[in-house]
Amino acid sequence: MSQDSLMIIGGQWGDEGKGKVVDLLSGGFSAVVRYNGGNNAGHTVRYADRHFALHLVPSGIIHPGVKCYLGSGMVIDPTGLVAEMDKLESEGIDIDGRIILSPRATLIVPTHRALDAAREGMRGAGKIGTTGRGIGPAYQDRAQRRALRGHVLADQPAMLRQRAMALMEQHNYELETLFKTEPVDLEAAMTELEKMAQRLGPMVGEVGPALRRHAAAGEAVLFEGAQGVLLDLAWGTYPYVTSSSCLPGFAAASCGITPKLLGPVIGVMKAYATRVGSGPFPTELDDAIGSGIRERGAEYGTTTGRPRRCGWFDAVAARFAVEVSGIDAVALTKLDILDGVDEIKVATSYKLPSGETIDTFPADAEVAEALVPQYETLPAWAAPTEGVTNEAELPSEALDYLHYLEEKVGVPIAIVSNGPRREETMVRGNTALADRLRGIIGSR
Ligand code: GDP
Repeated sequence: MSQDSLMIIGGQWGDEGKGKVVDLLSGGFSAVVRYNGGNNAGHTVRYADRHFALHLVPSGIIHPGVKCYLGSGMVIDPTGLVAEMDKLESEGIDIDGRIILSPRATLIVPTHRALDAAREGMRGAGKIGTTGRGIGPAYQDRAQRRALRGHVLADQPAMLRQRAMALMEQHNYELETLFKTEPVDLEAAMTELEKMAQRLGPMVGEVGPALRRHAAAGEAVLFEGAQGVLLDLAWGTYPYVTSSSCLPGFAAASCGITPKLLGPVIGVMKAYATRVGSGPFPTELDDAIGSGIRERGAEYGTTTGRPRRCGWFDAVAARFAVEVSGIDAVALTKLDILDGVDEIKVATSYKLPSGETIDTFPADAEVAEALVPQYETLPAWAAPTEGVTNEAELPSEALDYLHYLEEKVGVPIAIVSNGPRREETMVRGNTALADRLRGIIGSR
């Protein structure tokens, strides 16, 4: 599998357009794996005239026959997963026997959602900007070793009831005593969970052995990361980060496989930058250019509908992401959204309040908040890049922008996306990885 597997991760603050890139490539794989996060992720995939919003199910589900795995490092909201499966089925996608859920994945129960809302409500101005889906509290229970895990969905119903009730009673105690808020109706929550278990129980299965079987059969596997490196629990802008690791190595831990089975890493990055919720974002544009990018790029959250903060491409943050996660090549998306701007800026270093210049991302979010990005300015292009599928037909300034970013970020840009549709994509360069990508996209 090592030769044939591939990993796609977000190289910025999430929402980089991973959904399109994964979807573009997933037809070339026998299996697609999600290994981190939960239904706080939102991937938008367009297929012909259809539009799918996926939160938990790997994007490979759109392609007939591709197996979709949910690893142990994920947190799974049973209600959310069933809703997503129902939606896919109502759209005519055959999902039967194609989704495999790790018995070791952490389950989100209704009381987790209530805890999430209660805790975020208490934070006042220090809000982390969670999606309120219970992700953080579920990961917290995992670390606290009291979580419910996927296998309970396949256990005897009495066992599920006993374990779930015990956990949710603890949650209700915390809601009432710690947060002074209303407890959750446990009977209603239990009924919901029992109903979901009937649907999901048969899908529970170990992921690692299945992936090893794919490998032994010479079948290629695609690993699909959620969120982005700068939202990683350790390497992101802590504490304004997600509750799981977004780095490639976590896929091995999540699936119970050797890291040798993971393939080259493609980091998806936008031609500019966006961020949802609070936290450091050095290149944020609080002006007409920023709102112009937001409108043209439809930068509103897939999961929450929240407007995204928009800004220039941050080459310091991008190179940091490349270094800490071992990105081999970049897939640059939404180049077309920069069509029509007057000039383009790229942050190449930061200035600290002391006057010192740094060229890496600091560990402390407070330090990061105070950074002043130092920009280099590049000429914009007059002719549109939208929908151009041949590199030679790109305006020369757009091509210069790609070369410039490659130099600053330190790895090749192997894929350029300049429109939401599959066709609006080009694979660049003559590296072995680019040839392989061309082969996958061309073979579909
Ligand atoms: P993800 O979570 O990383 O998949 O990001 P989103 O769900 O926010 O997806 C990005 C959005 O941008 C989706 O609506 C895509 O259809 C769209 N998109 C992806 N690539 C491009 C592109 O190159 N140009 C344009 N205009 N839209 C794109």
